[in-house]
Amino acid sequence: MNEQVREDFPILARRIYDKYPLVYLDNAATTQKPRQVVEAMTQEYYNANANVHRGVHFLSQQATELHEESRDVVRRFLNARSTSEIVFTRGTTESINLVASCYGQAFMKPGDEVILSEMEHHSNIVSWQLLQARQDIRLRVIPIDDQGRLRMDEYERLFNERTRIVSVTHVSNVLGTVNPVAEIVRIAHQHGVPVLIDGAQSTPHFTVDVQAMDCDFFAFSGHKVYGPTGIGVLYGKEQWLDRIPPYMGGGEMIKNVSFERTTFNDLPYKFEAGTPDYVASTGLARALDYVSAIGMSRIEAHERDLTAYALQQLGNMPGVHVFGHQPQGDAVISFRVGNIHHLDLGTLLDRLGIAVRTGHHCAEPLMRRLGVEGTVRASFALYNTRAEVDALVAGIERVRKMF
Ligand code: PLP
Repeated sequence: MNEQVREDFPILARRIYDKYPLVYLDNAATTQKPRQVVEAMTQEYYNANANVHRGVHFLSQQATELHEESRDVVRRFLNARSTSEIVFTRGTTESINLVASCYGQAFMKPGDEVILSEMEHHSNIVSWQLLQARQDIRLRVIPIDDQGRLRMDEYERLFNERTRIVSVTHVSNVLGTVNPVAEIVRIAHQHGVPVLIDGAQSTPHFTVDVQAMDCDFFAFSGHKVYGPTGIGVLYGKEQWLDRIPPYMGGGEMIKNVSFERTTFNDLPYKFEAGTPDYVASTGLARALDYVSAIGMSRIEAHERDLTAYALQQLGNMPGVHVFGHQPQGDAVISFRVGNIHHLDLGTLLDRLGIAVRTGHHCAEPLMRRLGVEGTVRASFALYNTRAEVDALVAGIERVRKMF
């Protein structure tokens, strides 16, 4: 699929420092955008720009239709039951903050507990710590084993009568571990506890089905799945979204306002105060159309092949240590090379046109568990090739010889 697909992403033809072809392996941070996404957004600005849900005029109705059709594209992508369950947000971070804040306000009292895991991104830690500061809730943490898997036995032991919610990532943005989310949900539901899944790193790589998982909330970011920045999604079962209060106040989210009493809008608008990024929702819908047309199972197979190839190549190199990658892991590999500092390695690879991530990857507690300050992370997307893995390996070899 690659040659034809790569042409859809103009940025991939760039030369870095006017010299090296770009080898973009920082896809877990953000993915590049295909023409189909950028052009759809440009066309909307040129031809159908007007504020949504407010106007009787032609353009406003057209913009509203586009926006609401996009919501249905997201619904289908996640296999949600209804568009009432699809809330547009700015991204995973905002979606998690919304749940922590609103669910916390409605259902958590001082001393109540949330279960997280040791491999969470900061957005799924700090949001709960803000609630902790406001409402004196407790954070309980599922540990991981030395292979980077959740300790499911420990998970079961964390439940007690104060447990109110479980909030865990679908896929680790550092280790590539794919967590057994259906099992996590099943156990939580046995205790009558709802589950939020952070899908920032799963939606770009394989089919996600919120009904099959039976999760209560699911968050993801458009920009990690070939869509624009500034838009993301919170899926929530209606039974929960109905029962939690709004996140922000403003236009769109109300039915009637008076100084004495305000009534809130129906789902999902109750959670969408202010003018939404209706052009970004179009971009997101075109991105989801794009990956769906290729086929999520084809994307998954391609990325699994690349990841396995990269692991095999890195495994043959002296001094390379890969952190906790599973055979069924996702398209993310974190590693270290001898005593070379991750920042030095990343900087020198960049000089060869190879873009990787270095640092703690917004997962400092996980870094502490791994006993490192940071790692180098290569993460793959549908447009990456084996030749790019070879370039990474050659680049590492070159840097290794310099040290
Ligand atoms: N959760 C995970 C697992 C992530 O990898 C990221 C981003 O790297 C986020 C949450 C936050 O996503 P965003 O910055 O798009 O809100």
